[in-house]
Amino acid sequence: MADGVGAENLVQELRDVFATGRTKNFKWRVEQLRGLARFASEMEKEICEAVHKDLSKPAFECYTSEIATLERSAKDTEKDLPKWMKPQKTPVPIAAQPGNAQIISEPLGVVLVISAWNYPVWLSLEPVLGAIAAGNCVVLKPSELAPAVSALLAKYIPLYVDSSAVKVVEGGIPETTELLEQKWDKIFYTGNGRVGRIILTAAAKHLTPVVLELGGKSPVIVDSTADIEVAARRISWGKWASNNGQACISPDYILAEESIVPKLISNLKDSLKAFYGDDVSKGEISRIVNKVHYNRLLGLVNEERTLDKVVHGGETNENNLYIAPTIILDPPQDSPIMQEEIFGPLLVILTVKSVDQAIKFVNSRPKPLALYVFSNSKAVQQQVIEETSSGGVTVNDTMLHVATSGLPFGGVGDSGMGAYHGVHSFNVFSHKKAVLYRGFRADNSIRYPPYTNKKQRL
Ligand code: NAD
Repeated sequence: MADGVGAENLVQELRDVFATGRTKNFKWRVEQLRGLARFASEMEKEICEAVHKDLSKPAFECYTSEIATLERSAKDTEKDLPKWMKPQKTPVPIAAQPGNAQIISEPLGVVLVISAWNYPVWLSLEPVLGAIAAGNCVVLKPSELAPAVSALLAKYIPLYVDSSAVKVVEGGIPETTELLEQKWDKIFYTGNGRVGRIILTAAAKHLTPVVLELGGKSPVIVDSTADIEVAARRISWGKWASNNGQACISPDYILAEESIVPKLISNLKDSLKAFYGDDVSKGEISRIVNKVHYNRLLGLVNEERTLDKVVHGGETNENNLYIAPTIILDPPQDSPIMQEEIFGPLLVILTVKSVDQAIKFVNSRPKPLALYVFSNSKAVQQQVIEETSSGGVTVNDTMLHVATSGLPFGGVGDSGMGAYHGVHSFNVFSHKKAVLYRGFRADNSIRYPPYTNKKQRL
């Protein structure tokens, strides 16, 4: 545990800090936000080196998705925080008049953030930022699968924020299990649904509320009215140029109308060539995070290869954990690639006869974290939005709703519970306390016993 203290002591230490009331102070919150922004800007080089060590993520991708996002978020939060912290007035019913009703945002107390490896800086610090903005003490447990970033956060975050109120605890399952045995005021978990169930079970013991930022198979619906060239480029970007498919809202499979499938495949190939040249393995593209995930993805490719469903890519190199952007056309419904989240550079295309059929397919499966629809028809866009359920939707593009801080980011059903980003981060780490102020005047006796006949006639 941090500073060599056990999890129980760590939580107690933070409870003592929270009890001082220091973290509720607006100035304190702003100082921490500025600390996080400074961490992002001053440590840019070290962050990108660590992210590269863990994921071979290209520096540009690292800057846009791990650093600029955090800096922007810290600055925007500082700007909006006075407004968010202000009590909100709400109307008072006649029975409570004269009176004044307010919703007050109070911090929850001591919260735990457990993060994942694929965007190891942003996914760790964005929730921490929300927790601090709301005035909480926080423990961050980064992913052990991104060890260089985990070590960097443990070493430097205490230098940029109040280290008595914000702790970074490194470790894997044993350390996380110990943390989960403690009573927290909220647990914010990012990762897969199997572990999500472990988190929820541990939280239930203490009646701790949780946010589960999970994943799933995010579909893309492309109809025949779409601009296929642009659609293919944007799908390619969201799939391969965004951590090589290792993103929770990465396009997992495309449902494409029959007439456009050949053009879609050829445009996807063209976009890869434009992005990475003739040999993608020599281009700037993230590698698979580790051997376990490499072997898992290799198994999926090999299975589809034996079924003759691989129409592009499929090359692999175990030495540098490389798997080429790979397109798989119409795999059987019961093949493993259609059962589990791909979370890697394999992209499935399923041919459908109509948008109705695509919607039916999406609705027959667990609710996804993201859904994408490419269509020039406003009616089709609206139909897909209204007739499906997912954490979020981007129309005619991929991924970008996650970068729109006014939009809540989170799942629904199997893809998670709770949401964050921008004001939603502040809200998710706040208790909305209902406060009704009354004075001593006008103490109408109507409501008090005895309930005389006269009162009952009123
Ligand atoms: P991971 O392996 O890094 O695990 C996430 C966290 O869970 C880590 O901190 C890890 O230490 C902890 N953990 C693992 N096993 C545990 C156990 N048995 N008990 C307690 N804690 C445990 O990440 P992952 O799960 O491989 O991440 C990929 C998944 O996360 C995908 O499903 C992806 O879609 C999802 N994801 C979701 C989001 C989102 O914002 N919704 C973001 C990134 C990833």
